[in-house]
Amino acid sequence: MPKGVEQGKGGEVEFMPHVHWTGNPFVDAGLAALAAAARVSTLEELGAEHIEQAVKELERVLLSDQALGIGVDKAFSGPKKALRQVFPNSELDNPSNWKGRTPKEKEDNARRKFQDALRSELNKAKQCLELEEAGETCFACGERRPKIAMETRRKDKMPLFEGIVNFYPGFSHGVRVCGLCSLAVRFLPLSTMLAGNQNRLWFLHSQHLGLAATVARRYGWEHFDRLITGNKALDFYGSWETAGEAGTVVYLFCELLNSFPDQLRAIYRSGLPSTAYVFSNDNRGGFVQAIHVPNELLAFLAKLQIESKNAFKDFWEGLLKVRGDLREDERKTRAGFVRSISNRMIAGENIVGMCLTSDPPNLQGGWLGHRLYLQEVRGMAPEKLAILERLGISIAASEDAKKLVTELVTAQYHQLYGLLLGYVRKGWLSHQEFYFLLPPNAHKVAGEIRDVLLAVVYEWQHCQQEGKEFPRSTFDKAEASPDETLRRIQEIGRRLTNNLPNLQRWTKELTSARYAERIRGVYLNAVRHGAVGFEDYVFLAPLQDQRAMWLLRDYLLAFLFDVGRVELPEDEYPEFGADEVREIETF
Ligand SMILES: [Zn+2]
Ligand SMILES: [Zn+2]
Repeated sequence: MPKGVEQGKGGEVEFMPHVHWTGNPFVDAGLAALAAAARVSTLEELGAEHIEQAVKELERVLLSDQALGIGVDKAFSGPKKALRQVFPNSELDNPSNWKGRTPKEKEDNARRKFQDALRSELNKAKQCLELEEAGETCFACGERRPKIAMETRRKDKMPLFEGIVNFYPGFSHGVRVCGLCSLAVRFLPLSTMLAGNQNRLWFLHSQHLGLAATVARRYGWEHFDRLITGNKALDFYGSWETAGEAGTVVYLFCELLNSFPDQLRAIYRSGLPSTAYVFSNDNRGGFVQAIHVPNELLAFLAKLQIESKNAFKDFWEGLLKVRGDLREDERKTRAGFVRSISNRMIAGENIVGMCLTSDPPNLQGGWLGHRLYLQEVRGMAPEKLAILERLGISIAASEDAKKLVTELVTAQYHQLYGLLLGYVRKGWLSHQEFYFLLPPNAHKVAGEIRDVLLAVVYEWQHCQQEGKEFPRSTFDKAEASPDETLRRIQEIGRRLTNNLPNLQRWTKELTSARYAERIRGVYLNAVRHGAVGFEDYVFLAPLQDQRAMWLLRDYLLAFLFDVGRVELPEDEYPEFGADEVREIETF
């Protein structure tokens, strides 16, 4: 049976209005808190009696002594208090509602004003569910609702967000909203939290009720209940050991996954969008900022947590946690780090380079977490990761580790190709792997490859120091079949190895060529010897594309070192000088 259509008493099918997600983040976040209080598992289940019960809960919390500041050190709802950032000039904020001769009379009056308003909205919400009249379209949910169930809403009761263009076009005169939506927004404070820097409000918008209601339950209802029970003044939840807004958002996802792994893992992998809204509805200037949480990031967290609980904790604590016991200067540095890392995570950017510390060697967050992040969020092929992991271990375990690491750390971007060619010469990398790691038309990739290599080296050294085993990936080596370019390089390389009278000397000349002209000269020599054809020359040294020429030379050298078994004396390579010229010539 389609949604909204139910079997009537007489067996006939009749229309049943129902509650559903509206797409408006403020209404939806309120609905999630309402559903959490009503303890339903889908919004469609919500009926009049559920809503009534949720309203009682809302009154209990927002009208508690601890909310109004009675017998506690500060107030939450009440004139000029925290709740005002969500609803400026609400019934509780309006000083004229706090009239009376005694404090008790004042409180009672304010409570009554709020209750009256809430009751009237509750009635209209029930009318939305009970009456069939399709009178007016609600601005927030788009449903046709009975005329008597509509309200005109302005900023004081319906958070307005100037940052979203055309979000509330009719704002100045107010907008027409149905009783259900206006009642739902009353619950928004129960889905609202403080962000890492403690003065901005935010909530999570997800249309996955399992996620949204869990947030409202844990950081709203249960949090406020704890404060009421402990007779402490109410305030929004903000006990995050992290920094920044993006940091708080990712931290929340980690914390929830840690507390409810089975329930949330499926949701994280479901691919439904989650957006965090950082906002203020303050009279002095409201704003809203949307932080879209990439599905890949959530799927990654869920996968990591299955793979290893410890690795998940290492990643979460290593990259997002700002411990409370840090000295002020340490805290500042750490908070800055967490802020940049979490912003990059939200943007799906490279993070591994920022997590390297050399003294003592360490990879913050751990290799298992980073490896999966590279695969899931950065989209790096597992084959590539397996090559880099093996190569990194070769570097770390080598006698020259110290020198090699220094070279890696200090190499200019354009020198990285030379360094990797050096690994081919050492037999640590095949020419196919060299090509796979540094494919044509991927000019920005070398920097991330350096970061990943160093990450493996540091993790390996760290494991050595701690007497732990390095978490090697179990990925089986799969040889990708060569593409057109690599096949051509292999053909030319084979012709050179078979036909050149002095391959060793020729390769040395090619290696040390410092200018494009010289490279062409070396190739022409091979043509003159009849080792390769003129079309090979044209392929290797395209006139219009110097960058391609340098890159093809590196592929060819990789083949000659790997398959051609050309060996050059140690001091003749790497030729960084040539790469500097290459830099000038190609960029
Ligand atoms: Zn509907
Ligand atoms: Zn509505």
